[in-house]
Amino acid sequence: MQTNLLKSLLETPQGQEADSILRSCVHCGFCTATCPTYQLLGDELDSPRGRIYLIKQVLEGEPVSDKTRLHLDRCLTCRSCETTCPSGVKYGRLIDIGREMVEQQTSRNLLERTTRYALRKIIPYPERFAFLLNLGNLFKAALPVALKNKMPVIQITEPWPVVDHKRKMLVLAGCVQQTVSANTNIATANVLNKLGIELIQQKEVKCCGAVSQHLSATDEALTTIKRNIDNWWHHVNNGIEAIVITASGCGVMVKDYAQLLEHDEYYALKARRISNLAKDISEIIAAENFDHNKSTKINTSVAFHSPCTLQHGLQLNGVVEKILTKVGYTLTQVSDGHLCCGSAGTYSVLQPKLSKQLLNNKISALQKNRPDIIATANIGCQMHLATESKQPIMHWIELVEMAICPAN
Ligand code: SF4
Ligand code: SF4
Repeated sequence: MQTNLLKSLLETPQGQEADSILRSCVHCGFCTATCPTYQLLGDELDSPRGRIYLIKQVLEGEPVSDKTRLHLDRCLTCRSCETTCPSGVKYGRLIDIGREMVEQQTSRNLLERTTRYALRKIIPYPERFAFLLNLGNLFKAALPVALKNKMPVIQITEPWPVVDHKRKMLVLAGCVQQTVSANTNIATANVLNKLGIELIQQKEVKCCGAVSQHLSATDEALTTIKRNIDNWWHHVNNGIEAIVITASGCGVMVKDYAQLLEHDEYYALKARRISNLAKDISEIIAAENFDHNKSTKINTSVAFHSPCTLQHGLQLNGVVEKILTKVGYTLTQVSDGHLCCGSAGTYSVLQPKLSKQLLNNKISALQKNRPDIIATANIGCQMHLATESKQPIMHWIELVEMAICPAN
């Protein structure tokens, strides 16, 4: 695609990056076939190709309207289009740049500003999130039905295993996950213990920065990222093998640290090292040659929902499914597995109507073959699916723990 970006933009690294991404798009439209919002709305401007065109106009200095922002807001950042695109267009990066520019040139109404600010100031802070959740649970009976259904049940946690192995890995504690589903990281520690690996928690590192980044608060995201790098650094110097991430949404973000800080004089090298160490837990388990009795069939059928961040963001399609099958579970068929469930970070709060349509479609697809359990790999999807599912929704690593560490 030919571009004519503003000269002032082309003098910045971000402008140059956007220009190169725009030029890689040949406008073929293959991506529209797998875009969830285009499927629901049928509007070219709610397709990847349409949004790329809108971003091009913004970066070329054309007037920006609330309508431009609406079409960008409706994007799930699911990156299904990236998986489909034959030209390798880095859409996820382009939409981040486009959104930041649009945010600077338009103004939102008070309700939108307040909601977005509240999300940035609550979700990344486990203490604040837990306080509000406990308060909500206390007054649950008085809450409107829509909100009542969204209230997650806080798990009763198992103890963290006390072990001392030569092989050591660090885990990202996470923000929402450590409040709502703390057993995910505990199950991870138990499974890794079984494989002879000690998992170290560093509770100071909470949010990965994704919430701020995706709400176009880039400076706030970079501050979080730099703080995380500083907090992790002594473990890196002590020779940890990997930074294990159990929420695929956070995994994409930490693997992007290198790119987000590539022009930072002080942090560029450190960020690259951190991104190289970051591994989704499925990558770790798949690489371990653990011996499991393949003849042990578990009498539980599982429908696996592969989060967009796992299959499109991290490009780890099919990895979890193989692990679950290896430890003895029977997986049920799930149609349209490439489509988003509508959770998409803060999307379910900011775009509730579209999110609900996607959720209903996803739940129907997951439940069609009557699984006993639905498993996923990202806390956002886990909580979102739980609002409508009849079956329990678990992180897949908890199922592996049940299969290979029966004593826990
Ligand atoms: S993003 Fe890729 S698939 Fe979509 S129009 Fe551009 S080149 Fe074609
Ligand atoms: S990220 Fe998802 S919703 Fe956004 S344009 Fe791409 S496919 Fe569509």
